[in-house]
Amino acid sequence: MPHTHLTVSPDELIGWYDRSRRDLPWREPGVTAWQILVSECMLQQTPVARVLPIWTDWVRRWPTPSATAAASAADVLRAWGKLGYPRRAKRLHECATVIARDHDDVVPADVDTLLTLPGIGSYTARAIACFAYRRPVPVVDTNVRRVLARAVHGLADAGAPSAVRDHAAVSALMPDDERAPTFSAALMELGAIVCTARAPRCGLCPVTRCAWREAGSPPAEGPARRVQTYAGTDRQARGRLLDVLRGNDSPVTRAQLDVAWLTDPPQRDRALESLLADGLVTRTADGRYALAGEG
Ligand code: SF4
Repeated sequence: MPHTHLTVSPDELIGWYDRSRRDLPWREPGVTAWQILVSECMLQQTPVARVLPIWTDWVRRWPTPSATAAASAADVLRAWGKLGYPRRAKRLHECATVIARDHDDVVPADVDTLLTLPGIGSYTARAIACFAYRRPVPVVDTNVRRVLARAVHGLADAGAPSAVRDHAAVSALMPDDERAPTFSAALMELGAIVCTARAPRCGLCPVTRCAWREAGSPPAEGPARRVQTYAGTDRQARGRLLDVLRGNDSPVTRAQLDVAWLTDPPQRDRALESLLADGLVTRTADGRYALAGEG
């Protein structure tokens, strides 16, 4: 029978976290809530290793919301580099503008106010409240959901996300004291570095009784998850077009963009139209193209 609770004591999990967590710069003392917010926005769809250099340069250059808001949209898109999903950069710039203008340049601490900011969704709002302000709110990402699916429910993979159910599940596990925010961070870290999707390192895990292991580590039910490819996608075509614009301080011609993606012209046209529609690229009066705000 699977357990109905996580068999790990908060002290054990937090002790493991203190010993084993990754040394990440946004976890250093003195890092501000804004800088943590920037890290969370960058980490949403991008691995840590790629975020590290970009985040470091970013917060050095624009340490506060007002400094970010004062930068041009084009500079922000350039600094985003090749992190991918560049709409995040635009939303981060908008978020900085709102915090500077409406919140005295200070990131709000409560989840409901955070949720009113551009680009800040349920996960990010909770992560900021918990990591930057030590609010005892459950933070649930894919990693946490996987740990719970395995350790508590005995399943190889988590099912479909449900914010209400997932938050309730983590809330029920969190200690009811000042350890709560660290517990939440530790659960996430466990999923990120030990209870990983492909090869959980159960020998290093502080969970003493894991329902999935006790059930003999059964494989996932249902079809194998498709691995997301990047090569040949519209995302890659958008990235190539943005590379051309990032590399030029002045607007470029259509021909300069066209050579960046020759394999599939209709796909290239679609990519360009979507960049224009997202407000990341602008068309100048003389028919050339530039990063937003540079036309
Ligand atoms: S024992 Fe293994 S499967 Fe269970 S929570 Fe730990 S790492 Fe994950």
